[in-house]
Amino acid sequence: MMKQTTSSNSNNNNNNNNKDLNELNQLKSKYYESELEKDGLNTLVESLKTKIRTLQQQIFSQESSVQLNQDLESQKEILLEKVNNYKKRINDSDLQLNIIKKELSTLREENNDYIKKHNELQQENKIILQKELRQCNEQSTSIEDNINEIKSSFEKLDADYRVLQCKNSELELEIENLQCEVKRLREKCVLQYHEIDESNKLNDKLKGDINDLHHLFIEQERFLKKKNQQENGMHQASCNVCTKRIVGVRYKCGHCDNFDICSNCETSNHDRNHVFIKIKRQIINDRFVNNALLPEFQFIEQNEQDIDHKVICSVCHKKIRGVRYKCGHCAKFEMCVNCEAYPFNLHDQTHVFIKIRRPVQIDSNENLLPSEFRPIVNKPSII
Ligand SMILES: [Zn+2]
Ligand SMILES: [Zn+2]
Ligand SMILES: [Zn+2]
Ligand SMILES: [Zn+2]
Repeated sequence: MMKQTTSSNSNNNNNNNNKDLNELNQLKSKYYESELEKDGLNTLVESLKTKIRTLQQQIFSQESSVQLNQDLESQKEILLEKVNNYKKRINDSDLQLNIIKKELSTLREENNDYIKKHNELQQENKIILQKELRQCNEQSTSIEDNINEIKSSFEKLDADYRVLQCKNSELELEIENLQCEVKRLREKCVLQYHEIDESNKLNDKLKGDINDLHHLFIEQERFLKKKNQQENGMHQASCNVCTKRIVGVRYKCGHCDNFDICSNCETSNHDRNHVFIKIKRQIINDRFVNNALLPEFQFIEQNEQDIDHKVICSVCHKKIRGVRYKCGHCAKFEMCVNCEAYPFNLHDQTHVFIKIRRPVQIDSNENLLPSEFRPIVNKPSII
């Protein structure tokens, strides 16, 4: 305060100096401030450097992460391929699974069918077994009945056996008695044998006498037979071929008026459509000598080596082949060659047969020969 009061110039100077001082002070304060700012800027720079470092580190880390990312991308592609492969496999396995499911369902159906059939069979078996069981039961009851019957009959037989044993002992006694009687009878027999010897001798003598008489009888019979044959064998007709008197069998043509042949000339030629009547015994009836006795026959043409008359033999009941003998006095009596040739009579002796060689058609049921056209039959003579 003293400076300001001493001089006005100096006042001016003092004013100037004050201004400078103020300015200096201001500058100083600015400097301080700038220093402070500088420090702050330095710290900012430092902090920015550290930021740059961290950013550089970040950049570096980002670059490495990009690399990593690329690696991961490639790995991702590989993994995607793998995933696709797995998906394909899964599809395939799904298809297979479906097929297997279908098979399984069909197998299940089949199994169900089999189970049904099995059940049905079991039921059938049950029914059959029950039936068989019933039958077995019935049989066993019937067998038991039979056993009871057999037991009762056995008891009866046992009683009978005892009775028979008693009878047997009685019979044994009787046998002893009978044996004694047999001894007596044997002794009697020996005596009778002697008597029989004597009677045998007598018997031999009588036998010789009987033989002599038998020889005589046979001679007489032969004589009578010859006589009969001579009487019966001679026919009242002569053969139109050899002209001799017919002896034995006479064949009279049934379609000619008066034509006869003997058995020797039977094979000689005659009309092919004429049929002969075979006459074994003499026929004495003048009425028929000059008459054709048989009606016209209708012949059936056949192979002559194997003729079948389509007629059955009334004796042997076989088909008549070759020659057919038809009875002239019966409507329905036929004979084959073999049956006709027997030496004894198989039919009425007074009937006469027609000898048919070729098959003929005979429609009428009437007798072919007149009933009076019959032989005389001698009754066998009795001595
Ligand atoms: Zn003759
Ligand atoms: Zn003739
Ligand atoms: Zn007859
Ligand atoms: Zn026969």
